[in-house]
Amino acid sequence: GAALTVPDKQVDSVCPYCGVGCQLTYHVKDNRIVRVEGRDGPANHGRLCVKGRYGYDYAHHPQRLTVPLIRREGVPKRGDFTMDPERVLDVFREATWEEALEAAGGGLARIRDAHGGRALAGFGSAKGSNEEAYLFQKLVRTGFGSNNVDHCTRLCHASSVAALLEGIGSGAVSNPVMDVTRAEVVIVIGANPTVNHPVAATWIKNAVRTGVKLIVADPRRSDLARHAHRFLQFKPDTDVALLNAMMHTIVEEGLVDPAFIADRTSGYDALAANVANYSPEAMAPICGIDAETIRYVARLYATAKGAMILWGMGISQHVHGTDNARCLIALALMTGQIGRPGTGLHPLRGQNNVQGASDAGLIPMMYPDYRRVDEPEAQAKFEAAWGRALDGKPGLTVVEIMDDILADGIKGMYIMGENPAMSDPDANHAREALAALQHLVVQDIFLTETAYLADVILPASSFAEKTGSFTNTDRVVQLGRQALNPPGDARQDLWIIQQVARRLGLPWKYDGPAAVFDEMRKLMPSIAGITWDRLERDGAVTYPCRAEGDPGEPVVFTQAFPRESGRARFVPADIIPADERPDAEYPVVLITGRQLEHWHTGSMTRRAGVLDALEPDPVALVHPLDLEALGGRPGDVITIASRRGEVALYARADDGTPRGAVFVPFCYYEAAINRLTNAALDPFGKIPEFKYCAVRVQVGGH
Ligand code: SF4
Repeated sequence: GAALTVPDKQVDSVCPYCGVGCQLTYHVKDNRIVRVEGRDGPANHGRLCVKGRYGYDYAHHPQRLTVPLIRREGVPKRGDFTMDPERVLDVFREATWEEALEAAGGGLARIRDAHGGRALAGFGSAKGSNEEAYLFQKLVRTGFGSNNVDHCTRLCHASSVAALLEGIGSGAVSNPVMDVTRAEVVIVIGANPTVNHPVAATWIKNAVRTGVKLIVADPRRSDLARHAHRFLQFKPDTDVALLNAMMHTIVEEGLVDPAFIADRTSGYDALAANVANYSPEAMAPICGIDAETIRYVARLYATAKGAMILWGMGISQHVHGTDNARCLIALALMTGQIGRPGTGLHPLRGQNNVQGASDAGLIPMMYPDYRRVDEPEAQAKFEAAWGRALDGKPGLTVVEIMDDILADGIKGMYIMGENPAMSDPDANHAREALAALQHLVVQDIFLTETAYLADVILPASSFAEKTGSFTNTDRVVQLGRQALNPPGDARQDLWIIQQVARRLGLPWKYDGPAAVFDEMRKLMPSIAGITWDRLERDGAVTYPCRAEGDPGEPVVFTQAFPRESGRARFVPADIIPADERPDAEYPVVLITGRQLEHWHTGSMTRRAGVLDALEPDPVALVHPLDLEALGGRPGDVITIASRRGEVALYARADDGTPRGAVFVPFCYYEAAINRLTNAALDPFGKIPEFKYCAVRVQVGGH
């Protein structure tokens, strides 16, 4: 075989993709990554998946943005484009940093001064570091003067977090993934970790091998289902029916934990009265799981010495996403399956730093550490710390911001590292909104579908080109370290944010991530004990870590829940149907999600050689019998249309996809499936219903 290139340096860092937070080492030669190796981090112990191991060369892609760009006068903004990187300079002209920053910051300042802070909004990124997230939300809150700041957490676990904050007072996981090895029963529901949290899935499979009983519940049969003790392929959109029926069984058969309920919770009676209406026998035809199986799984969970629940977007991305999560919380509380090792609730976080970005206050209703912006004491605390008067009104969320633009409210935006033109539901509507902005500043590493609609583009640094802290799904804060210099004139994001801030009248001077982190920990009790030195030395520290020297707490809620009463709260849920049900015209259910080789909107992985070679083309997964009934064969082009748009892509036969449904990953710009999805929101988490809308499918392209 070919000799391995001898690197000239090795840099210890973490993976830039998912929330598992695998530690890795970059092998670098001549400012290029030549190889990636897994390290012995707490979440991965040397393991990496295909994305972490091979998904690095996007950093060296020729399409990297290396010069600031300003939109040419008179070039219209069109959302229905096909991206042609060769023609960038037809739309934009190259500019100096000084000129671009003046245009970027000056444009935002003018809108603020003419229309007030609520006429501006910012999207930060769960791909950025904690320090970038913190500075970005501080810029919006103190520089714009509103709370219109959000990021993609709104599209992934906002409903889970709403339910968790309401029920147990904390939006983060109670136990790390690795606790599956200490459980007796593990439920994975509405998640496909083999694809989306691959290294976490390997720990689950290892646990099964040592006797842990795995229950997988999902409308789609995933690879993990092969390892399950029981697989419950329930009908899409029937989560509450299934979960209430499990709770019905537990109450009826006396399998609750009365001491836990009495000592640690409130609201049980109302919950028990509600689930009395949901017998497994009545729910079986609704959810498609027979009553005996529902009862069996409920007994197994309730009577296990330790049982853990992990969930993903299948739970959260519904108009009843918060209700789905409320049911999972209630299950854990009524059986006392929380607060000990090998138990608990684990919403599998998607992005590498979605936990940290949310903790840092990159959300419209919360300051750092989840202090509500409309709570006067919290407002006073942050006004004193930041030296500015703050808006006490919660800001708008991702989808609300798009609607507000078209209602002539918000006129300017600053978007750092997010791609709403691809990731938002009803993407045609989102693109129309972005195009309608008077002033859009986009900071990114590629000309994304969103950047194409910008007035000013600021070329940023890729993950490996900067140092920062990142918080994984287990609440472990880890260091990503700079391995490369940014290409051309691209700059580190922390520098760019501060330059934009300066143009908004904020004379900040942070000389690096350590200085920002130090300010954060003084304002955030949950990480108060974590010093930058310790992060550099240990590489990973779990929060809560309230005082220097504290070891950190991987398992929380052992004595009390962080609510005023110290008690967790049961919140009953009833069945609410999906916003858009199939009908004669649109008879098929569209489920969207991800696939192993690609990440979210594909801006990185579709420019990573190995990953793109493995999955180069847009595909839709269709049950083979459904495909046959349509008159199609695997590999045929099919057209999927909803009331909002249509796309053409290749059909792949997949008997794990339920009959009457089609599954499409949202990473393909040439078949941007979010043009079809429904922007209806869960009322509590304001999360869109990505997991369910009505479409029709035909063989053939358009
Ligand atoms: Fe990266 Fe997640 Fe894969 Fe680990 S499991 S290597 S963090 S994508």
